[in-house]
This record gives sequence, C-alpha cells and structure tokens, in this order.
Amino acid sequence: MSRVITAKFGGTSLADASQIRKAAEIIKSNPEIKYVVASAPGKRFKDDIKVTDLLYSCYSEFAKGDEFFPTLVKIKQRYEEIIRELGVTFDISAEIDTIEQTLKKYPPADYLASRGEYLNSKIIADFLGWTFVDAAEVIFFDENGHFDGEKTFMTVNAKLRDIPNAVVPGFYGSMPDGRIKTFSRGGSDVTGSIVARSTQSDIYENWTDVNGMLSADPRIVNNPLPIEYITYTELRELSYMGASVLHEDAVFPVRKAGIPINIRNTNAPDAKGTLIAASLPKDVKRRPVTGIAGRKGFTSVRVEKSQMNGQTGFGARLLYIFSRNGVPFEHCPTGIDTISVVVNSSAFDLRRDDILREIKNELSPDFITIEKNLAVIAVVGEGMVSARGTAAKVFSSLADAGVNIRMIDQGSDELNIIIGVDESDYETSVKALYSSMIEK
Ligand code: ASP
Repeated sequence: MSRVITAKFGGTSLADASQIRKAAEIIKSNPEIKYVVASAPGKRFKDDIKVTDLLYSCYSEFAKGDEFFPTLVKIKQRYEEIIRELGVTFDISAEIDTIEQTLKKYPPADYLASRGEYLNSKIIADFLGWTFVDAAEVIFFDENGHFDGEKTFMTVNAKLRDIPNAVVPGFYGSMPDGRIKTFSRGGSDVTGSIVARSTQSDIYENWTDVNGMLSADPRIVNNPLPIEYITYTELRELSYMGASVLHEDAVFPVRKAGIPINIRNTNAPDAKGTLIAASLPKDVKRRPVTGIAGRKGFTSVRVEKSQMNGQTGFGARLLYIFSRNGVPFEHCPTGIDTISVVVNSSAFDLRRDDILREIKNELSPDFITIEKNLAVIAVVGEGMVSARGTAAKVFSSLADAGVNIRMIDQGSDELNIIIGVDESDYETSVKALYSSMIEK
C-alpha cells in the first residue's frame, strides 16, 4: 500500500505565483502527497506585508470607522497577480465583494483574517486541479472557543476518505453557531497536523523557507549545523527555550498518533530537512547534544533557611506563593537549605512586593536573595544520558570562556542541562557551548 503524506506549505512558500509553482512541482512530483494545507500569501521580500497582516489592518480600519477600502484593494491586487501569473480562472472580484458585504455587517475579526488562507487555497486547488475543502466545514471549536479534537478528527476523516486529493486552508475552523474562528498566529501548522492525524498520514511534511531546524540561534552562532533528526521531547525542550520552527500546538495531534513531522524547504526541495519523531531509527547517528537554545529575562529568587530540609511542605508553600500571585515558575534548583525559584522577570516584577512579603510572613526564611538579569540556556540531547562527561564539558567550556555560571539545573530524565548565566554573558555562553558540544 502506498504511503499517505499531508503537506503543509507556509506563507513564504505560497507568497506569489512563482512560489506556488515551486510548491506545485513538489506536490506533483510525489504522488504520496494526497492532502495539502495552505497558508495565506506571506512576505515576498523583507519589507513586504503578509496578506494576513493586511487583513488584520483592514479589520481594524473598519472597526475604527476608517476607510478600509484601499487595504482591501491591495489584498485583491495580490491575488489578481497570482491568478494572472498562474493562468487560472478565478473570480476574485466576486470573492472580494462577498468579503466587503460581510464586513459591512460587522463580522468578527477572525472571519476576515481567515480569508487569506481561504482564497489562496481555492486558487491553489484550481491550479492543481484538486478538490477544495473548506476548513469551516471540517475543523471545529466548541462554544468556548476551544479546539474540538474529537469532532474534528472524525469529520476530516469522513470528508477526506473519499477524496483522492484535496487542498484545505490552514489557520481556521468554525464554532457551533457557524462563526469562523482562527487558531493563534502561525496556526496553519496546527491545521496541517490535524489533517495528517485525521487522515492517518504516514508523515506530515511541513514546507517552509529554511532547511529545517538549526542546532543553535543563527543570530548568535555563525552558520549553525542543521538538526537532521530530533525527538518530540527534545523539540519541546528547545522550543520552550525559544527555538522556533513550528507552532507549539502543531506537535500534539501528530505526536499522539505517532506520525513524524518532516520540516522541508520549498526553495531547496532536495535538502532532507529535519525529521521530528517519537523515537528515531536505530541506525541514525546523532551527537549527544542535539541543540542549544536559551532566553534572557529571568529572575532567581533564592530562599535560604537552616534545616529547611526537615520541614515538610516548605517547597510546596513557597511555590504556592508564586502560583497564587499568577507567576509561574520556570526552574527550581534546590540545595539542602536553599531553594531557588527562577521566574520570568516581567511577570515577577508586577507582583514582586507581594511575593516577598508573603514569603517573609509565611516562611520566615533566614535570607532571600534576588538575582536579576539572568539568561537561561538549555543544552538538549537524549544522547547525553549515555555519553559520559557531557556535563563536565558543558561547565569547562563556560569556564574557559570566562563565564560565571549562576544556576545549574538538570532535568531528571537527563535530557537537558539548564544553565543560568548573567544576561551579559548570554551570547558568549551560547557560542562557547556550541563550539564545544556541537561543532567540535
Ligand atoms: N496566515 C496566518 C498567519 O500569518 C497563519 C499561518 O500562516 O500559519 O499567522
């Protein structure tokens, strides 16, 4: 039996007719690609404006009572150019009239925002000679606006089962009353994942404009090596720390179904990209460290109390003070008589006085020390468990670079080592870690 592939193409991959032609070539050259999920046209050049952003501007102009027609005309012109250059027959004027009429009836912003993927997908379906399936008919949110997985998976499956090839617009679905609702920005990745899961695809290809995920931030490290293989767990750690390649919610539907995601580059279709899977083929050789990611903007609140270890519930009470003040903790390294709670600085600063007062009143600590301007770096790799001396290498490379480590936290699964350094040492640390742990 032949495999089934769901392929999602992002905004830059479908930004104009020549990009759409590239995507179409990829699609047509692989008969296993049965379903395509399309984004709205993205940026064609650096200072260009994405169609979705134009749609949001159009909506806010309308909502303020300003003249929105010129923006709507700009949107129309983007599509007219695409239609003309692809040589398809598509009545864009009628579509734009419908949008304008609906807009006059004051529709929700989500309706307008969704039209970018709606129109692009219709045009692409025409160009490919495939069936267009409106996401509003198959992707559902409940009355509270939460994604309704069960109903959606069933409906997408039932609808697509009998259609050999379909194009589904990304980014939106509908509410029980029929109103359009979008996912958060970048949400076409989520639609792609939903379609892959519902159609029991063998693989979810996510076509974008980079050769996959990189092992470090290219703004800090020159030409970092791409990541060929990564597990979902590693991806989660790296994305949480700021490495972004996919919408965060796009992982869950396919991960649950054990479907791998392959990030590919529309502009370099021969590159293998990054394969994200639950577990990787045995013969794949990987470095102990898969990637490095980090973020600035943390504060560490270190609470010291002698014989703290003998007091049951001390840690729980401390964390509860943060949680009831609405400040989630990010890391929590502990010593015998100390606990540090590492939190996001901007969230902490808003509640700082209350939190400190409550700690003093409720826990009577000996000392509270606050360290601001902390950057947190995660060195992530499942291979670290079996590679001896990884931690030693992490610390010596930072020492050699003259960096003072201000916090260390190792996840219990030995998947990552988390290091806190001064924000001013952040870039130096990432470079040092990259060259000792990855480049070598
Ligand atoms: N077009 C939407 C956005 O710009 C969704 C997407 O492209 O994934 O956020």
